[in-house]
Amino acid sequence: MVKLAEWHGKEVFRKYGIALPQGAVARSPGEAEALARSGKVPLPCVVKAQVLAGGRGKGGAVRFANTAAEAREAATAILGLEFKGEKVREVLLEEKLSIAKELYVSFTLDRSLRLPILITSAKGGVEIESVEDAAIDRQPVDPFPGLTAYEKRRVAKSFGLSGPARASLDRLLDNLWKLFQAEDAELVEINPLAVVGDGLVALDAKVIIEDDAAFRHPEYAEVRDDRTPLEEIAREKEIAFVQLDGNIGVIANGAGLTMATLDVLQEFGGRPGVFLDLGGTDDPRKVTEAFLLMAEARPKAVFLNIFGGVTKCDTVAKGLVEAMGKVPPSDRFPLVARIRGNNEKEGVEILREAGIISIPTLRESAQAAVAAAARSP
Ligand code: GDP
Ligand code: MN
Repeated sequence: MVKLAEWHGKEVFRKYGIALPQGAVARSPGEAEALARSGKVPLPCVVKAQVLAGGRGKGGAVRFANTAAEAREAATAILGLEFKGEKVREVLLEEKLSIAKELYVSFTLDRSLRLPILITSAKGGVEIESVEDAAIDRQPVDPFPGLTAYEKRRVAKSFGLSGPARASLDRLLDNLWKLFQAEDAELVEINPLAVVGDGLVALDAKVIIEDDAAFRHPEYAEVRDDRTPLEEIAREKEIAFVQLDGNIGVIANGAGLTMATLDVLQEFGGRPGVFLDLGGTDDPRKVTEAFLLMAEARPKAVFLNIFGGVTKCDTVAKGLVEAMGKVPPSDRFPLVARIRGNNEKEGVEILREAGIISIPTLRESAQAAVAAAARSP
């Protein structure tokens, strides 16, 4: 997922003529102070953590400063934070505007309607998650005519804007719509969109570029995302590997069976910690690589749940046994297997010879995996 940091999203906004507060990024308290002192960022200013998680306003990661010394202090505090698991490396300093009203605007894709959708609310700001449904307006946008005059009119009415402010809103919506389409975004969100005099200023920016369109946008290739280091390695090796916060590793094949396996473990009180979807592969080299990555995640136990359709149970079993031999003793874990389907007998036999018992039913095998994780030191 290509998720842009706020400063980066705002850089894209600027290209599309969306009004922004004057600001700049700092990587150290000294740099923050210098920006305020030199007037590059007018005072009073706002100092904001550049992390991908939301809720900064409520979480102490957005602060205000009246002087350059205060800007330094705010930057020191924020740069020292680990916000929702993410270390803060940069802060964005911006002039503090006086806001008449905070609004919410976004374009995203509605997957059930199969259309872009314009979502707006006159109750924007940090409490957006708890705004009642009735105060949130959703208008599907047909991409062929594009955003129409009546859609914009409805937004203006709900925001209570008229005259020059209304004209600002029309321009903003047109620009944001243009950005959404041309950048192949799956989400563009402004919260809050601030009413400042007769104008509208984007105080925040959230931009997510559609993964499948990434090839059309080499300019986003360097964007840091939220993959863990192991997930990053897996991506390079084209292995579907996701880390969660539990302690049982899951190796399955196919997204459906993989998800169902996570559910079943949960059902029996287990906590899946990492999962690996072998997909249609039974290439022993790939299975080995995948398994070694799994070992690096140091699960308490691993549940292998394979259905041999295209995949053959015996080749998966072979790859697995081979991989087991390569796991360093310090990283070893108990393994519970269930392999069914194509060449099942041969697969079960290969596992048995290596001392791994395959349990044929889902319930018993999942329970055994949960128990193994609980016993594991
Ligand atoms: P988020 O909580 O991570 O979404 O961070 P935001 O960028 O949305 O900032 C949180 C809140 O800080 C906003 O809802 C505003 O109330 C406030 N804020 C941000 N910039 C300014 C500004 O320039 N002036 C004023 N008065 N408030 C601001
Ligand atoms: Mn926001």
